[in-house]
Amino acid sequence: MSPPGTGKAGASASIPGGPSEHGSSCLATVLRCGRKWTLTYGLGYRIKYPPAYLVHGSLYHAVCAYWHGAKVSKPPDWLATPLGAALDEIGAGYPEQIRAAKDFAKFYPSFDAPRGCEPVMVEQEFGATLAEIAGREQAGDVADERVTCRADLVCRINGRTWLLDHKTVEPRGEHLQSWNDARAFATWGFLAMHNFRLVSLFVEDLAGFLVQRIKRSQPFEIDVNPLLIPVGAMQDYPRIMIEAVRRERQILAELKLEAGTERRLASAPNFTACDGRYGLCEYVAVCQTPRIEDRALILAAEFNQFPPVGEG
Ligand code: SF4
Repeated sequence: MSPPGTGKAGASASIPGGPSEHGSSCLATVLRCGRKWTLTYGLGYRIKYPPAYLVHGSLYHAVCAYWHGAKVSKPPDWLATPLGAALDEIGAGYPEQIRAAKDFAKFYPSFDAPRGCEPVMVEQEFGATLAEIAGREQAGDVADERVTCRADLVCRINGRTWLLDHKTVEPRGEHLQSWNDARAFATWGFLAMHNFRLVSLFVEDLAGFLVQRIKRSQPFEIDVNPLLIPVGAMQDYPRIMIEAVRRERQILAELKLEAGTERRLASAPNFTACDGRYGLCEYVAVCQTPRIEDRALILAAEFNQFPPVGEG
């Protein structure tokens, strides 16, 4: 069974977005820190009050999804929910961010980017087994494991098909910083390789991956840049998927052997991963607390728990 997803708010049939079932966030997490993967995906913890920027990102994604979703030939079911109601649901408890998203919804149609873009699919989930991605021989013992991605937008531009991801950013200065390929690949390359590899199994002649950067604060700014995926990195990516899924399996096997509160200690922490590009890991207080009982108190107070893998 695949682990439960996490990430963007809003996994529901009535609103767009939400976590992909077994996507790049999940695989990246297990490679970065086994403890974090255990708590989030193995045991199903989700922080009750995510940082405002995450909610902000989910809200802006929804605005983009509604705009593009209204233009595809088979409109998604969630379009039946009015945008305002979807934003209120996604941003519940974050009134300032909802207000900003409603302002952004007024701005976005005037941007019309990328120019000449014809949406084909919006917030579409794709999935394939590792055998389909890497070949049964290379995938070996995890050949039948399925990985997934949710594509923000598949679109046609000048007769070619592109995969586009929306990214909300807050530049240090007033304006968006100039695009830097090496930095951009370091920031978004894992997601780009993952989504591109999967979607290219289903969409012929995929031309490339576009990042649409959206400045969160007013005055709004947006730019769209192709993310160049190095060929060598792309060739190696299936090996990364296989390695990540093997680690997940190993952790799940360990969890089955543990019992009660001891499970919260399963998997070694990686203290080099606590301060990431999005700030401090949400479990810092848990990992820094020595007594298991106190960890349990923090988890109960600050996190919701959803059914863990195999117990849903
Ligand atoms: S705080 Fe650090 S060690 Fe603990 S789960 Fe997060 S990344 Fe891992």
